[in-house]
Amino acid sequence: MMDKSRLNRIIRDIKNFIELEKESGLDEFMLKGVTKPKQASGLDTGGVARDRKTVLDELRTQAQECRECPLCKSRRNLVFGSGDPGARLMFVGEAPGLEEDIKGEPFVGKAGALLTKIIEAIGLKREDVYIANCLKCRPPKNRDPLPSEVIACREFLRQQVDIIRPKVICCLGKFSAQTLLMSEESISRLRGRFYDFEGTKLMPTFHPAYLLRNPSEKRHVWEDMKKIRDYLSNHQENQ
Ligand code: SF4
Repeated sequence: MMDKSRLNRIIRDIKNFIELEKESGLDEFMLKGVTKPKQASGLDTGGVARDRKTVLDELRTQAQECRECPLCKSRRNLVFGSGDPGARLMFVGEAPGLEEDIKGEPFVGKAGALLTKIIEAIGLKREDVYIANCLKCRPPKNRDPLPSEVIACREFLRQQVDIIRPKVICCLGKFSAQTLLMSEESISRLRGRFYDFEGTKLMPTFHPAYLLRNPSEKRHVWEDMKKIRDYLSNHQENQ
C-alpha cells in the first residue's frame, strides 16, 4: 500500500502541474501517464546494505533509458549529476546547457568554473559535493524547461536526494529554487534563508551564470555560502 506522505507528494505534484499548465495558457490537459523510475534508493533492500554509488548508478541507468519527455530525442548526452554520492552538500541547477550536453557533466564552462571557486571558498573541493540539475536532458536552444518536463523529471532528482541524503541542498538560481520549493517568489526574495525540502535544509542562491553577468551580486552568494558552511560545521554528525 502507498504510504500517505508519498500519496500527498503525488497529489501536490499534480496540482502544481495543472497550475503551471494554466499559467502557460493551456486549458486542456493531456494526461499522459508519467512512469516513475523504479525506486532505486533501496540502500538496505533485503537487509543488505548497498553503497550509495551502486544505487545512484542504477538510477543513472534508468535516466539513460528514460523516454518520459521529448528532451531524450534532442539531447546529445544525459547529464545525470556528478560528485560524491555521500556528499553533505548538494547543488541543484536548472538544466544542462550546450557545454554540459556535449560533455555529459553538469556545470562545465565559465559558470562551472565559478561554481568551483564558490565551493572552494567554503573550504571544500568540487569532488566533495554533488552537483545535479532539475532536468537531466538539455532543452533545445537553452529554452526554459516546460512544466510537463519538470514533472516528468522530478522523481529522478527526488531519488538522487534520497540516495545521497545531503545535509544541505543549495539551489542555484530561480528555476531550481522555485521548482523545489514550489514557489513563485523571485530568487532575490528566496535567497539567503534556509527552507525545508522533505526534511533536508535548502538554501537558494543566485546562479553562477547570473553572477558572471552581475558580479556585484557575488557578495550575496558569499553570505549564503557562509550560512551553509556554518550549518555544515555545526552538524558534523555522521549520516
Ligand atoms: S529530461 Fe528527464 S524526464 Fe525528460 S527524457 Fe530526460 S531524464 Fe527523462
